[in-house]
Amino acid sequence: PKPPVSVLGLGNMGSALAAALLKAGHPTTVWNRTAAKTGPLTAQGATPAETPLAAVTAAPLVIACLTLNDHVYDVFEPLAEELRGKTLVNTTNGTPAQARELAAWAAKHDIAYVDAGIMAIPPMIATPGAYILYSGDEKAFEEHRETLAALADTKWVGQDAGLAALWDLSLLTGMYGMIVGVTQAFALTGRAGVPPKEFAPLLADWVTAMTNGLVPGTAAALESGQHLTDVSSLLVNQAAFPNLLATFAEAGVSDELFAGVQPLLDRAVEQGHGADGLSRLAELLKQD
Ligand code: NDP
Repeated sequence: PKPPVSVLGLGNMGSALAAALLKAGHPTTVWNRTAAKTGPLTAQGATPAETPLAAVTAAPLVIACLTLNDHVYDVFEPLAEELRGKTLVNTTNGTPAQARELAAWAAKHDIAYVDAGIMAIPPMIATPGAYILYSGDEKAFEEHRETLAALADTKWVGQDAGLAALWDLSLLTGMYGMIVGVTQAFALTGRAGVPPKEFAPLLADWVTAMTNGLVPGTAAALESGQHLTDVSSLLVNQAAFPNLLATFAEAGVSDELFAGVQPLLDRAVEQGHGADGLSRLAELLKQD
């Protein structure tokens, strides 16, 4: 028989996690603040718990999926004694510092703490391509890895509990950067009356081609410390970027999303990095 699991927090994501565990054959106990949300899962075979205490008592592996880490304290702080010796996997989105603080709280009570960053939306749970980042108590993670694999592929990123959130938020940062660019491009073409449907395939191919080159290229430059380029220097980018800003202004499109780029290019060139590629900017952004 598969090991039992408890899931606390049955929003869109928590419900998807619990459903995946049930589908994989794990006896699954579920609790939610608003009790009605246990209904669909109970229909799939879950055991509803009336209180967080009952849920925590039901399994050695406890998964939390709440809106914020403040809520994780609300729910679990009163249950520290009951959690002793168990593993708490926290999939709630938060900062690295919050994860470390939760890990320190857990350590005080002999709770094995594993922080998790879910790189998927609820319908992607338990489908190929979805994965979850984990950090914190490695022994507890290894012990429960097979169970956690029912949710999505598992990616261990290290014993510092804050690392899963750091990787998660860094991936989201890349995503937001892309969103910024795509949004601006549609605003700009939209102003000129270019049909979004006609522009979309070009934009998608362009962003994909650029990303496919940029990401490994930046990584290689950062690994080697060798940023010199004969392809697209900071000097060339610094010279061309005002054309973008002028076009935003001409078209009547706000430049607020791009406000930081020109000053950064200027600073890079001023500091003597004009012959380097854009990978240099990743070094310049790091503050002491
Ligand atoms: P929902 O808003 O659908 O669910 C939020 C859950 O948190 C509900 O179960 C809610 O209970 C519970 N909750 C909120 N406050 C409290 C509290 N004070 N005490 C007890 N329970 C509380 O959000 P999601 O399920 O989508 O997201 C949950 C977590 O997963 C978030 O941290 C989110 O960032 C993360 N995540 C979500 C993804 C997504 O695509 N949805 C992707 C990756 C991560 P109630 O039903 O009673 O309101």
